Amino acid sequence: MRFVPFPSAAKRPSADLCCLPFACDSSGGVVPLFDDTRLQQAVGRLLDTTDFRAKVGESIVLYPESKTESRLMVIGLGELSGITTDTIRQAYAKSLSSLRKRSLTSVTCMTPRVEPVAPQLVYRGILEGLLLGSYSFQEYRSEKEAMAIEEVGVLAEDPSAFLEVEREVIARMSALSLCRDLVNQNADEMNPQGFAEVASTLSRDGLMVTPHGKEWIERQGMRLLLAVGKGAQYEPRFIIAEWQGAPQSHEKTVLVGKGITFDTGGLDLKPFENMKGMKGDMAGAAAVLAVMQAVRDLKLPINVTALMPLCENSIGSRSYKPDDVYRARSGKSIEIGSTDAEGRLILADALDYGVKDLGATRIIDVASLTGAAAVALGPDISAFFSNTDSLAYDLEQASVRAGEPLWKMPLHMGYVDLLDSDIADCKNVGGRAGGAITAALFLHFFVGQTPWAHFDLGGTSLLKEPRLCFGKGATGVLVRTLVDYFLQLSKTNL
Ligand code: ZN
Repeated sequence: MRFVPFPSAAKRPSADLCCLPFACDSSGGVVPLFDDTRLQQAVGRLLDTTDFRAKVGESIVLYPESKTESRLMVIGLGELSGITTDTIRQAYAKSLSSLRKRSLTSVTCMTPRVEPVAPQLVYRGILEGLLLGSYSFQEYRSEKEAMAIEEVGVLAEDPSAFLEVEREVIARMSALSLCRDLVNQNADEMNPQGFAEVASTLSRDGLMVTPHGKEWIERQGMRLLLAVGKGAQYEPRFIIAEWQGAPQSHEKTVLVGKGITFDTGGLDLKPFENMKGMKGDMAGAAAVLAVMQAVRDLKLPINVTALMPLCENSIGSRSYKPDDVYRARSGKSIEIGSTDAEGRLILADALDYGVKDLGATRIIDVASLTGAAAVALGPDISAFFSNTDSLAYDLEQASVRAGEPLWKMPLHMGYVDLLDSDIADCKNVGGRAGGAITAALFLHFFVGQTPWAHFDLGGTSLLKEPRLCFGKGATGVLVRTLVDYFLQLSKTNL
C-alpha cells in the first residue's frame, strides 16, 4: 500500500473508491467532515434517509455518476465532539476490512476536518486504520484473499506534515505486521531456531542481531531457560538485538520478550481448551523484535537492546519437574510450584543478564504471562506494573497515542510472602488469587533497583474472537506503544 498526498478535493486522483467521512452531531443529525459540495450532493439522497447514522466504523458503499471514482464509501466517525485519533483509526480499519472481498486497487480519502484534533493526528488515524483494516494472515491459504490496494490518495493540505506522519506510520505498522505474522505462524515452524532465522534477517543498517545457541546459554548460567526447554526436541535460543543510536550516551533501554514458542504447560499439563492459542506464547519476543525493526527503520537516536529467551515448554521424559528446585542465573533458588508458570522463569534469567551484564538504565519486559491478567482486564486492555512512576507515566502516555489501552496494576509488596518456599529461596507461583501481581513480584526479584516496567499481555496478544480493529489471532499489541515511547524518548531525552 502506497500513500500519495493530494492538495484539494478538486485535484484528487481517480480511484476505485473514495472515502467520505461523516460525524453525528448532538441532535443525532449526520454532518459531512469534508468541503467538496459535489461529493456532498452525490450522497445527499442517502442522508435524506435514516439508513446511515455515522456511528464509529459504520460504512455504506454508493455507486455515483462520476468519472473520478467508481464507488463512494461514507464512513462514520461517531459523535463530532468525541472524535480522536483512535476513533478515526477504528472507523477506517473497520470500513476497509468490510471491503476485503472486492477487487480494489486504488482508494482516495477526503481527510476529515475535526478541530481541535491536529492534522498530523488525523493523518495518523487514517493511515493506521487503513493498514490495520487491510491486514490478514494468508500464509497457509492455497488461494490468497489478501487485499490488493496499491495506492491510497490522501487529501493533505500540509504535505510535509503528512510525509513525516507517513514515515512513522509505515515503520510502526510494518513492525506490527511482522509481530502478528510471527505469532500467527505454526509453532513447529516458529520454533526457537525458526524464530532466530527470521530475527537474523533484520540484522542490517546498524541493527545487530545475534542468536545464541544452547552452549552459550549454558556458559551464561541461564539454568531456568535450560530447565524450561529441557523436554522439547528443539534446543533453546537466546537472541540479542542491539541498536546503538546514541553512542555518546550512557542511557540504555533493555527490552525483554517472553519467547515460549509453544506452551503445553509442561508436566503440569494444560487442559485442552487452554492449550489452544499457545503457539502465541512467544508474543512478547515477537513484539520486542518487531519494535527493534521500527527503531532501525526510524534510525532513532537512542540505545536499545532487545533480549529474547526462546524455548518450547514441552512434555516428555526429560521435562523439568514440579517440586524440583532450580537455581536462577542470579543465584536465587526457585522451587517449581507449577511447570506452567514457565514464562517468568525464562524472563528471570534474561532480566538478570540485562541488568547485570548489559547495564540497563531501564528495563521493560513484555510477556503473555498470566490468565489472571485476562480475567481482570479482558481482551482490550493490557496489564502493566512498574517500580518507577515516571517510566509508568511515559508508557501510559505512549499507549494513549497508540490507541492501545493499558491499566497499571499494583506491585503490592504485601503479597511477596505468597511466593515463600519451604525448601528454596522462593516459588515460581503464588496461587490463583492475585496471580498477575505475584507473577510481577517474582520478576521484580531480578531487576534490583533498575527502573522497570512489566507488561502482562495474557488476555490481549491473541484473540479468540474478532475485536475492534482486529480479527481472530495475533494482535501485535504493545508494538505501537513501545515504538511511540521510543519516538518520544528520542525527542525529549536520551
Ligand atoms: Zn505456561
